[in-house]
Amino acid sequence: MGVEFAFTISAVAAVCEFIVKTRTGTGPCEVEAVGRCAECGYAFCASHSSAQFTDLCAKCVADRAAASQRSRADAERAIDEAPARIAAAAAILARSSIAPERRSYKWEEKRLLRTATVEHALEPAWPVGTFTWAQPETQRQGPRSDLRTGVTRSGKIVPMDVAIDGESPLIVSPTGLDSRGTILQVAAAIEDLARRT
Ligand SMILES: [Zn+2]
Ligand SMILES: [Zn+2]
Repeated sequence: MGVEFAFTISAVAAVCEFIVKTRTGTGPCEVEAVGRCAECGYAFCASHSSAQFTDLCAKCVADRAAASQRSRADAERAIDEAPARIAAAAAILARSSIAPERRSYKWEEKRLLRTATVEHALEPAWPVGTFTWAQPETQRQGPRSDLRTGVTRSGKIVPMDVAIDGESPLIVSPTGLDSRGTILQVAAAIEDLARRT
């Protein structure tokens, strides 16, 4: 460790290479350097160093933070826009010759002397793949189910083989897909299907 440290110090330029405002315009900072930035390669002084990293300058750390802020905002926006994309693709499919798959829920009903299988039709949907659904009462930690998933005409994301909340009778009532980002995969899958029309 000690040896490495000594080597780093000896490798840095004597003065800070940051361009700053000077009395005559702009020029190098020229304060004694304390390190060299692993990203931009400039030698930096104490005031142009980053507080968190010994091998990065203040500007590169600020640039990184801004970039990750931007990509987080982009990801949020993409998730917000996904339902509209799904609805648009479902509308295209609804006008196409690609028929949605029938969905139904069967259950055993006790009659007087026998049990009868009752079938309840659910809104048809176009299958888009298998996704993990979480159940509401269990919040995040509880059981999850990998369910064949589809999109209805109205753009609703539903499991293909079980009923969900709002579709009677209730068998599984997922709050929704396991992670918010999953909706992007659903959007991509339904758009892919819509492109084949
Ligand atoms: Zn830098
Ligand atoms: Zn400086």
